[in-house]
Amino acid sequence: MNKDLVGQIAVVTGAARGIGQAIAVALASRGAKIFANTPVTQLSCTETIQACRNAGGDAEEIVFDVSDSAAVDGGFEAIAAKAGKIDILVNNAGISRDGLLIRFKDEDWKRTLAVNLDGAFYCVRAASKVMIKARYGRIVNIASVVGQMGNAGQVAYVSSKSALIGLTKTVARELASRNITANAIAPGFIETDMTLALDEKVRAEHMKGIPLGRYGQAAEVASLVSFLVGPDSAYITGQVVGINGGMYM
Ligand code: NAP
Repeated sequence: MNKDLVGQIAVVTGAARGIGQAIAVALASRGAKIFANTPVTQLSCTETIQACRNAGGDAEEIVFDVSDSAAVDGGFEAIAAKAGKIDILVNNAGISRDGLLIRFKDEDWKRTLAVNLDGAFYCVRAASKVMIKARYGRIVNIASVVGQMGNAGQVAYVSSKSALIGLTKTVARELASRNITANAIAPGFIETDMTLALDEKVRAEHMKGIPLGRYGQAAEVASLVSFLVGPDSAYITGQVVGINGGMYM
């Protein structure tokens, strides 16, 4: 196994399950020490931490809700105090509240934007203070294919993910001179709790639009993240990298 992240400190938000868990394990297997974030429930990341250790790496839990600015600042200060640096930030935490536009509730709009967009902003701002001092950093934001192409019934989710792409490009421009890269990944439909919640009819409809004819796996997204935070991608910044089975080209 490639150990090109040995000695690096990585923060992965929303790491208790799904894509975040797979990312934590992939980075740990390459040697990074993982701070696995979970919103409010202590010990939520126990499984992730065990999986990171089984993969030959090290991990610990860090509890904060990404939508809480003060909590995020406190969390990153604690990580920096403990680890002395933050090399990698993966903004993975996300929620999806879906519904048709005309009936969409203010509270669902606000909560989706608060977690998916405000949360990424708070984390990037907090981590970049540490990265700027070190003149090194790798930031990956998990957007979505629907943030590139739009999707009926997902007005808040799509808006948050499109804005996350804008945030990524701005961060990339602003921090490039400090040797910090920022890229977005835009997954298509990936097998996790988020998509398992969809009913069979919706899944069958999705398949028609995926040339490779299947949902992706969290581990496949994690491999792409590993590449984007590793030494072979030093000249890639401000990009939106699709991983979607061909559903958007
Ligand atoms: P998931 O299985 O629902 O996991 C989401 C994770 O985010 C959970 O661990 C959740 O914590 C955490 N989270 C939610 N709100 C949070 C908050 N306020 N603060 C910190 N953590 C929070 O989703 P997933 O499918 O793995 O998705 C991960 C990311 O990929 C999301 O940003 C999603 O939008 C994006 N994405 C997913 C797909 C897909 O098809 N699955 C496609 C494109 C993009 P709890 O465990 O405590 O709930």
